[in-house]
Amino acid sequence: MIRADLHIHTTYSYDSSITPKALVETLVAHNSVKVAAVTDHDSVEGLSITLKLAAAYPDILIIPGVEISTSEGDTLILGTTELPPKPWTVESIIDFARERGCVSIAAHPYREYGMGDLARNYKFDAVEVLNGASSPLANRRAHELAKLMGVPGVAGTDSHQPAELCNVYTEIQASLDVDDVLKAIKKGLVATYPKLGYSSF
Ligand SMILES: [Zn+2]
Repeated sequence: MIRADLHIHTTYSYDSSITPKALVETLVAHNSVKVAAVTDHDSVEGLSITLKLAAAYPDILIIPGVEISTSEGDTLILGTTELPPKPWTVESIIDFARERGCVSIAAHPYREYGMGDLARNYKFDAVEVLNGASSPLANRRAHELAKLMGVPGVAGTDSHQPAELCNVYTEIQASLDVDDVLKAIKKGLVATYPKLGYSSF
């Protein structure tokens, strides 16, 4: 079993102050969250730098990813080191993810840049039901959406500052291996923490 923060922005997102080095150091020092997905806005530049830095530490794992902006809302892809081809539509991003064995996730559906109920029109692998930057109400609605869609719910901090890293996380019944983690998410072998009602934000 591993614990993972599945939504993180590095300085290669225009709005984040988390350097790849700070992210790797946080994981190395953390006593339980040792896995993180780098999901910069429309970019995989910070990801490749983070992967290189993390390679020196066998007890942490970086899951490659990206958060793609579409006109309908933000979509997370986990498992890719490449951007999907443009034009970016939710449908084309989900197809791209499926063809490559990646995981597609509707990001913070009930917050700004989220796609809300529209997510029901698409075959996402998961819904982000616990987003560290969303209100408890928005997260509760996302939980209900995942239930309705019959897909697993995952958690990520959506960190843009070092202090936010790992404040929420997904517990995954998987080993420290990217493919294993992706498969486990698709199978729903996940739980999100902290539990609703006990979060501090
Ligand atoms: Zn984000």
